[in-house]
Amino acid sequence: MEAACKIVGSCGGCSYLNMEYAAQKKKKEKEVEQILSGLCKVRPILGMDDPWHYRNKVSAAFQRRRDGRIVSGIYEAGTHRVLPVESCLIEDQDADAIIGTIRSLIPSFRIRVYDEDTGYGLLRHVMIRKAHATGQILVILVVADPVFPSKNNFVKALRKAHPEITSIVLNVNSRQTSMVLGDRNIVLYGKGFIEDVLCGKRFRLSPQSFYQVNSLQTEVLYGKALELAGLSGKETVLDAYCGIGTIGITASDKAERVVGVELNPEAVRDAAANARLNRIGNIRFFCRDATEFLVDMAARGEKMDVLFMDPPRSGSTEAFIRAAASMGPERIVYISCNPVTMARDMKVFRGLHYQAKEAWPVDMFPWTKEIEVAALLTRK
Ligand code: SAH
Repeated sequence: MEAACKIVGSCGGCSYLNMEYAAQKKKKEKEVEQILSGLCKVRPILGMDDPWHYRNKVSAAFQRRRDGRIVSGIYEAGTHRVLPVESCLIEDQDADAIIGTIRSLIPSFRIRVYDEDTGYGLLRHVMIRKAHATGQILVILVVADPVFPSKNNFVKALRKAHPEITSIVLNVNSRQTSMVLGDRNIVLYGKGFIEDVLCGKRFRLSPQSFYQVNSLQTEVLYGKALELAGLSGKETVLDAYCGIGTIGITASDKAERVVGVELNPEAVRDAAANARLNRIGNIRFFCRDATEFLVDMAARGEKMDVLFMDPPRSGSTEAFIRAAASMGPERIVYISCNPVTMARDMKVFRGLHYQAKEAWPVDMFPWTKEIEVAALLTRK
């Protein structure tokens, strides 16, 4: 298959663009089978019907070339040079169109584009977030300075070209850093956030909120995770490494009570806000290291019925796993973006009488090498 992307070699995002989608899914499935062999049965991979343009968050760096031309796209690996991207096979198409319009408005509004080397100039990045279910769109203009000349007219022109935009925010990032977003947000239009619906629950997305980038497949993943959890409505559930609380909030209708734990304070704040937004009264979130939190709970003799765990790429810790096992959950649903550390953790669980029953690979990131897995472990 001919790769339909001009920068496939230099971008580094899509490693499998020259492969048919079916072959790519097989390859990922085989990889998970190999990594989990002897530990767990692997079910058929859950892929997408239409695996294109799934990314709901798109960001582009802006740069002015010597000849005055404005380009936007991604940094070439290891350089400060922006590789122009006008369209991308996995990004949301409305987002790419809005970024194109912003590029074309820059000269007439005399907006100076930021120069990474000299630290001079205004516009650094544009980030677009689109809520899949509601269609709401948030535009974030990342600037080095809060003074944006003729911003009202700029907002007017952008909204005229794209009436579908829900909110526009100026994000101030004056530091010399590779982080895209700064801390300060100034709302130029709308509420400064958008709302999406995932698994029947509403979630608020602010510029900084963490949110899975493939909404359709996130519903597939969480749907599978909930099915594996087999909740009846009477359980005490723990959602460890809970991020903005999406899994716990989705499970809250089917449980007696839910406790979420997460290290990142901003994510915990979003999680609490999302629980209020959905008027959920049986969930509580704690901002702690998941291992310390579980070790303390276990030491107090607390019990739980079902554990969801969704650790970062590095996986969980032996202390977490020991504490979790001592709290006696019937079922553990382990979600992972790295099957290698998942396999390592499954071995520790096995030594504590928790057997991995089945693992479901979910293709969250078609055309890339990334793979997500939801697995069920039960007590022997
Ligand atoms: N379950 C969420 C987020 C999963 S990503 C979702 O599906 O959206 C993994 C999360 O683990 C991140 O939010 C990260 O901040 C958090 N995390 C990383 N190390 C942690 C630790 N030691 N204790 C608690 N949370 C941690």
